[in-house]
Amino acid sequence: MTITREGDGGKEAVRVSLRQKKCTVFALMLGVPALLYLIAMALERTGLDVYEAIPAMAFFAVIAGVLLHLCWMRCPHCGSWLERNDGEYCQNCGKRIDWDAKPGKE
Ligand SMILES: [Zn+2]
Repeated sequence: MTITREGDGGKEAVRVSLRQKKCTVFALMLGVPALLYLIAMALERTGLDVYEAIPAMAFFAVIAGVLLHLCWMRCPHCGSWLERNDGEYCQNCGKRIDWDAKPGKE
């Protein structure tokens, strides 16, 4: 099964390994809310409007992280969602998952 590349027009498509995608997802789901929390702490006494929006921003970061996880964390062989599978093998087709492989190499 060939995976359709995003942005077919761009020849220099960004090639990202599963590991990098996973890091991005976790940075979004954990790092962004943590950062926003720190910002909220800093802004607490200022009474700025931004302060009110921070929980919503954190919420959206988590939602985006979940969506990206659903889109990205897929087996390169059968395309099934890996869920929390960190192992070397796909839980669905049993093939080896190369976490550092960058798709699109020719
Ligand atoms: Zn698979």
